[in-house]
Amino acid sequence: MSCLSMIKHKMAGTEDVFKKIISHAKEYGFVFPSSEIYDGLSAVYDYGQNGTELKNNIKDYWWTSMVRMNENIVGLDAAILMHPTTWKASGHVDAFSDPLIDNKDSKKRYRADNLIEDYVDKIRAKIDKEVAKAAKRFGDDFNEGTYRTTNERVMGYQEKIDTVNGKMVEAISKNDMEGMRQIIVDAGIACPESGSKNWTDVRQFNLMFSTEIGSVSTESSTIYLRPETAQGIFVNFLNIQKTGRMKIPFGIAQIGKAFRNEIVARQFIFRLKEFEQMEMQYFVKPGEQMKWYDEWKERRLAWYTDLGLPAEKLRFHAHENLAHYADAAEDIEFEFPMGFRELEGIHSRTDFDLKAHEDNSGKKLQYFDNEANESYTPYVVETSMGLDRMVLAVLSHAFTEEELEGGSSRVVMKIPAPLAPIKAAFFPLVKKDGLPEVAKEIMGELKLDFNCLYEEKDTIGKRYRRQDAIGTPFCVTVDHDTLEDNAVTIRERDSMDQKRVPIADLGAIIGEAVDIKSLFNNKS
Ligand code: ATP
Repeated sequence: MSCLSMIKHKMAGTEDVFKKIISHAKEYGFVFPSSEIYDGLSAVYDYGQNGTELKNNIKDYWWTSMVRMNENIVGLDAAILMHPTTWKASGHVDAFSDPLIDNKDSKKRYRADNLIEDYVDKIRAKIDKEVAKAAKRFGDDFNEGTYRTTNERVMGYQEKIDTVNGKMVEAISKNDMEGMRQIIVDAGIACPESGSKNWTDVRQFNLMFSTEIGSVSTESSTIYLRPETAQGIFVNFLNIQKTGRMKIPFGIAQIGKAFRNEIVARQFIFRLKEFEQMEMQYFVKPGEQMKWYDEWKERRLAWYTDLGLPAEKLRFHAHENLAHYADAAEDIEFEFPMGFRELEGIHSRTDFDLKAHEDNSGKKLQYFDNEANESYTPYVVETSMGLDRMVLAVLSHAFTEEELEGGSSRVVMKIPAPLAPIKAAFFPLVKKDGLPEVAKEIMGELKLDFNCLYEEKDTIGKRYRRQDAIGTPFCVTVDHDTLEDNAVTIRERDSMDQKRVPIADLGAIIGEAVDIKSLFNNKS
């Protein structure tokens, strides 16, 4: 097999997995295309019965880790619609846009920066391949650092990357759309769909959705669906600080919908037009922002690994091009089926937002420090993650195809037990002899403690497979012996081990494994 066909084969592999996850998510009630009976709406999705539970459990884990575990972090639920000046002050009206370019032959529209980033990723992959080959060739004597800085081919690739990145940063910072187009032309980047290099100019498109407000047309004015939840927190900074008697440093956490008119192609719930963010803005004393920035980077990474997401699937990625409000910014990236992509942003936002709202509203948005007897505008360190991207991270990490003894196979969603949509399923062995009633009675005792499901259709083997596909950590079977010994068979999802246990012990066995608290108890 030639190098190229090997790569194609590998890429088809990851694309295949992604497709399988998408169809599994639909078949098992996690995620449906929005308004599907009308052929759907691009980049908008609905969460089904299992997706909703999973999403709620992720929110619960995040909210607990932020608000309940930290005495100095409190919650907020701000409205989606805000005074239009909010978005002028925040810079979104003038600068929240994507550089878009159309291919004249395929009529496909792309983000120019994404086309360039994909090109850079391909060169990076070539470097990694060279490094891996050399590591194999030199064995224990291999020094990766030296190789990367001395091997001519690798240095050539690196130079290409640095040049393209440098030009892109310059073009973006100067808002030079002609320069942006030139990078694409010079690099010979072709339309991924058609292979054509026949490009239009690059134009900036604002990502905010707008609508009109006002009961009579003369009063109407443009308002926006919020493109981020953060501004609801900034405009409520003083309300919360005063009513909660908060002392700096303190945080405000919020989970809510955000909307962006994204140009997307086949990215499922990774890039949506309507999505949910989980954000926390941490207000700190000016000058202390880097200390808190480093601390929150570490704490946010641990939030994922405590959940069992492997460290090697997570990495930090520093922004090459800082947003207008930031003095430091890094993303936590996760290895999705389509590669490493942003899951969360950690930004040191300076005092940009509070100052801008102060200027635009004429209201003083400062903090009076009793000890120092001085007022100042706090600096802000924010952690901002996409809930839908987290759902995708959990689903794609959990999706496992297993060959079993005897030649059969199963698809099992190895979702961490505290996040699993259904914690335990209850089965009567047969649909008669009083077994359904007993199974329902046992479930009735437990259903307020955790989410349960009752199922009596099909063979026990088929019922197990169905729960494996949903990610249910425990299945409990009631058989004829139960009527005599008050015991049931409990089967664990990942090991498929089965045990006979007294009914009276079920609550403790399942409860301990699925309780969100277990994620915090694991902490050293
Ligand atoms: P990207 O570079 O992928 O467009 P971003 O840097 O614009 O993301 P932020 O503005 O930092 O994203 O938003 C914080 C988080 O919100 C992101 O890390 C991501 O998880 C989530 N997010 C942003 N845009 C979307 C979207 N269109 N769909 C789903 N989640 C999103």
